[in-house]
Amino acid sequence: MAQPPRSDWRQAWREAISDPRELLGLLGLDDLAADLPAADAGFPLRVPRGFAARMRPGDPRDPLLLQVLPQLAERTVRPGYTTDAVGDGAALAAPGVLHKYAGRALLIASGSCAVHCRYCFRRHFPYAESTAAAGRWQQAVAHVRAHADVHELILSGGDPLSLATSKLVELVTALADVPHLQRLRIHTRLPVVLPERVDDELLDWIGGLPWPVAVVLHVNHAAELDPAVAGACDRLRAAGALLLNQSVLLRGINDDADILVALSERLFACGILPYYLHQLDRVQGAAHFEVDDARARALHATLRTRLPGYLLPSLVREEPGKPSKTPL
Ligand SMILES: *Cc1c(COP(=O)(O)O)cnc(C)c1O
Ligand code: SF4
Repeated sequence: MAQPPRSDWRQAWREAISDPRELLGLLGLDDLAADLPAADAGFPLRVPRGFAARMRPGDPRDPLLLQVLPQLAERTVRPGYTTDAVGDGAALAAPGVLHKYAGRALLIASGSCAVHCRYCFRRHFPYAESTAAAGRWQQAVAHVRAHADVHELILSGGDPLSLATSKLVELVTALADVPHLQRLRIHTRLPVVLPERVDDELLDWIGGLPWPVAVVLHVNHAAELDPAVAGACDRLRAAGALLLNQSVLLRGINDDADILVALSERLFACGILPYYLHQLDRVQGAAHFEVDDARARALHATLRTRLPGYLLPSLVREEPGKPSKTPL
């Protein structure tokens, strides 16, 4: 689906599909509608049309479809799967600031996302109380300023690029004179699910930042990286951003050595280096995506024999209270 070069990303955002029946209809999978769970007001289906266009029509196991389609299995309550799987509730250092690791602080800059990933560990996060959204940035900025060990600020969410670029400019202007800040990192899925977001205004902002910038994307399958996304990645790199990727290991979606090798190779072709392969966070409603640790390790060992070291992501899990991600 070709996009006009200067399309308005907010319009593409508003036009995202929110009715699972419409999505299934577009893919010729109307039969699956009978298996849909009752509407989920808290975390409804949301998928931009450009992302849906990368799904294979007629394939109920399509790896992009399975990331976004609500399933009855989400209703199964499993012991050990909680609504705060990674201990974020206990780690809020200031409104919107997670300061769990030395050297870097993570700012929950926004609670919204262009896509709703069914396995998301933040699907239960109380964003309304916890984001550093407009007007509440002073405390977050004050926290960074007061902690000289914060050399890197991570803009995360939700998706920080869901904010208007003018808001991002505002935030970063407030941080520009913090002497100990050396790097900015942006955790975002928007260039992948809505490449229209990578417009000239965003690129001007990134190109003009006073620090080196890393953009950590989130891609789980090579089929997510179509030419429009590759173009957005080229533009981000031309603006000076280092591009990295984190994936989540997901049963039935990418828990296969051939698929993970193809993902690393496609990432490299788009100028992105694999960074992390995450074991699923045990979030309520996502248990059906879990791959057990023994299989995860075996898959990773296979990847090591098939990929150059620089295309091998680190296999990690996030454990509450630990000073870093935990390698498996
Ligand atoms: C994952 C995470 C980071 C980043 O960890 P890296 O290993 O530097 O990528 C930072 N802060 C929090 C709260 C995190 O959850
Ligand atoms: S884009 Fe990221 S934060 Fe948003 S729903 Fe997906 S995984 Fe969660």
